[in-house]
Amino acid sequence: MLIGIIGAGISGLTAGRILAQAGHEVIVFEKSRGLGGRLSTRYSKKYEDVRYDHGAPYISGNDERLVQFMNELEGKGILKLWTEEFHFHDGENIYDKHPNRPKQRMYCAPEGMNSIGRYLSRWVDVRRNTKVIGFTYFGENLRTKKPWMINLQNSEAVEVDAIIVATPAVQTYGLIENSTDETMFKSIIKDIDTVHYRPKHTLMLSYENADALNFKGLICTNNPVLHFISNESSKRDTGNKLSLVVQANGDFSRKHIFDEVPEDQVLSEMITALRGLLGDWAGKYDEADLKLWRYSQPGNHFETDFVEVGADRAPVALIGDFMKGQTIEHAFISGYELGHYWVKKLSQK
Ligand SMILES: Cc1cc2nc3c(=O)[nH]c(=O)nc-3n(C[C@H](O)[C@H](O)[C@H](O)COP(=O)(O)OP(=O)(O)OC[C@H]3O[C@@H](n4cnc5c(N)ncnc54)[C@H](O)[C@@H]3O)c2cc1C
Repeated sequence: MLIGIIGAGISGLTAGRILAQAGHEVIVFEKSRGLGGRLSTRYSKKYEDVRYDHGAPYISGNDERLVQFMNELEGKGILKLWTEEFHFHDGENIYDKHPNRPKQRMYCAPEGMNSIGRYLSRWVDVRRNTKVIGFTYFGENLRTKKPWMINLQNSEAVEVDAIIVATPAVQTYGLIENSTDETMFKSIIKDIDTVHYRPKHTLMLSYENADALNFKGLICTNNPVLHFISNESSKRDTGNKLSLVVQANGDFSRKHIFDEVPEDQVLSEMITALRGLLGDWAGKYDEADLKLWRYSQPGNHFETDFVEVGADRAPVALIGDFMKGQTIEHAFISGYELGHYWVKKLSQK
């Protein structure tokens, strides 16, 4: 069968890989240039050896299915063990471990988190810079050769047998709204609309000739501006530079979006908070870049690994991190479970 997947994040690519390995033809449509979705890496404009994981900074999880995948990536040199503990700032002092957070194996990607998406894309045909705007159901009343048509922003359309929507719930909702057979989705569209995401500003910073930091990651609680600092220089060799990705806390980002605070002011407030935390040197950066994630992680979720609707012979499935959770682990399992379920189901045709 020919399966069209919307979104080249870890959920879509994982499902795509499993289906392609079972002999299906898989096309993944990705609106952006990069692969991996929120497992995303930005390259420094100034320094060749600096890159910033400005989406999820690392990958971890205990589920056996994910552990097996992380082991595979570690074996290929795509992941390496980063740390088992982060430093912790309680609002006053920095401690070398979090009192209530159990040790966990956290893996980073020396080449950047986007190398996970690049690896997974080997099994499928990915069309980058290709935004899907909706899909149309023709069913067995064949005016077309296949039951579904995926409509692209560039006015082209691609016929497929089955569709997987692997985008954040907010975008999934928009795609369903633009589908000609909305009734098919009647039972779930309201639930999709209730999934909300936390926004997050991430600030990328580099310092020439700065002293090395003694932490890999620093979790901040009780800080009105900052949530987490990732020491990117502890993931890869950045020469004499120190590079950091600083994540704002959700309330700060939400309020600043609501108040339409200009980017340079957001940046300046985050720098002031960072100086308060690490010292005045933190204000003397040589490169700074700010990114706003409107949908960083879901705040609520569905209770199933995936949702399937549509005709049995021409199904549509929804997957992603809003299935059963809010993390990379949930996104991976969602794609993994749907992939295996469809391998079994579609082979019975
Ligand atoms: C700043 C930040 C920090 C995070 N920290 C952590 C963390 O510490 N731990 C953790 O587990 N998780 C973390 N996450 C969340 C984690 O990255 C996500 O849960 C996971 O990557 C989601 O994968 P996904 O496949 O569900 O969706 P995505 O990665 O969002 O993939 C969806 C893809 O669909 C594409 N797309 C959307 N609409 C269309 C369209 N119309 N046409 C074509 N393509 C489309 C998007 O461009 C994207 O590439 C973080 C995320 C962010 C942003």
